[in-house]
Amino acid sequence: MTETAGSAYDRPSTPLEHAAAAPVPDADSLAGRFVLNRSASPASAAERAQALQDLHFGSAFTDHMVHARWTRAAGWQDHAVIPYAPVTLSPAAAVLHYAQEVFEGIKAYRHADGTVWTFRPRYNAVRMNASARRMALPELPEEDFIASLVDLVRVEHLWVPEGAGESLYLRPFAFASEPFLGVRASEVVDYYVIASPAGSYFPHGLEPLSIWVTTGYHRAGRGGTGAAKTGGNYASSLLPQQEAYSQGCDQVCFLDDVTRSSVEELGGMNIMVVNADGTVRTPRLTGTILEGSTRSAIMTLLREEGRPVVEETITLAGLLEDIRDGQVSEVFACGTAAVVVPIGRLAGEDFEVTIAGSQVSRQVYERLTGIQYGTREDTHGWMYRLV
Ligand SMILES: *Cc1c(COP(=O)(O)O)cnc(C)c1O
Repeated sequence: MTETAGSAYDRPSTPLEHAAAAPVPDADSLAGRFVLNRSASPASAAERAQALQDLHFGSAFTDHMVHARWTRAAGWQDHAVIPYAPVTLSPAAAVLHYAQEVFEGIKAYRHADGTVWTFRPRYNAVRMNASARRMALPELPEEDFIASLVDLVRVEHLWVPEGAGESLYLRPFAFASEPFLGVRASEVVDYYVIASPAGSYFPHGLEPLSIWVTTGYHRAGRGGTGAAKTGGNYASSLLPQQEAYSQGCDQVCFLDDVTRSSVEELGGMNIMVVNADGTVRTPRLTGTILEGSTRSAIMTLLREEGRPVVEETITLAGLLEDIRDGQVSEVFACGTAAVVVPIGRLAGEDFEVTIAGSQVSRQVYERLTGIQYGTREDTHGWMYRLV
């Protein structure tokens, strides 16, 4: 991406945004690509009700999962929705040694009339394939990816919670399962989707995060895998995340690895800066930042309301100075799981600043979740009906 040229309002869309905008056939026409093998021992209605009453993130799973297998010789085959169960792997499976894997995160939302919807599924389909190319994994046809969400959520629709801010979190992933210790791309790959009912990230309302800016670690380097959604990026962020905890912070923010001076993103969320004059800035996509669906949607919503949104290099030094002298009124993080989170404190080896504002983050949160939960008009065609 280039920096915004000319008017700050009209930015050329990225290849991912462009591909994601293609229309998706309706769910009825995609349904059935994954053959149902129904679980003989699903949760009882009482067990499910119990699970839906006490929602956390990513700890409870539904009765079924999607599976398909790819082999170099035969391509993708055996598309199915099968009972949720442990996966059997050879101890020599390549993913366990060389981390050849990709994943996605997308939610299913229940609307007031009982229908179930998801948000921009082609975006995630296209992004998973971009991640797969980087990780030398096979691409899954976009409409098979979307069909896998349709078929899973249609079987598990009773697991989609209906409380405010609640959703069924869907986790598609694909990994190298060939039992082979030689270092090359796996010739056997398994694709799964599992589903986990999720509570509101903020049961007590939006609570500001405190962020530790690490200078000793980077999550991505030029030519590396930072733009791919792959487990290794998360593995390498865990130690700096522990450093953040030990410094009394909730999350870690990474700087670029070349100049070590510009802000990139958190371990799993993009970052946005609101200037006192109303302009919103976010780090431009340099190849080391994950191109978030939430980031993209928020930029569109903000521009739509007439706010200038710029993608640019944001230096830590400049950001701290702007926060101290009041030119920056707000900083927030965004991603599918949490949607939008105001950042209330930034700390590092030799600085600590607080940021009081959260007006724009609150407004963006309301507008985006309003579209997702069907209480606001979806003027962009982002919502896709699953059930
Ligand atoms: C998934 C992810 C995001 C957020 O992407 P969304 O599509 O908005 O959920 C941001 N940064 C990283 C590193 C991620 O893995």
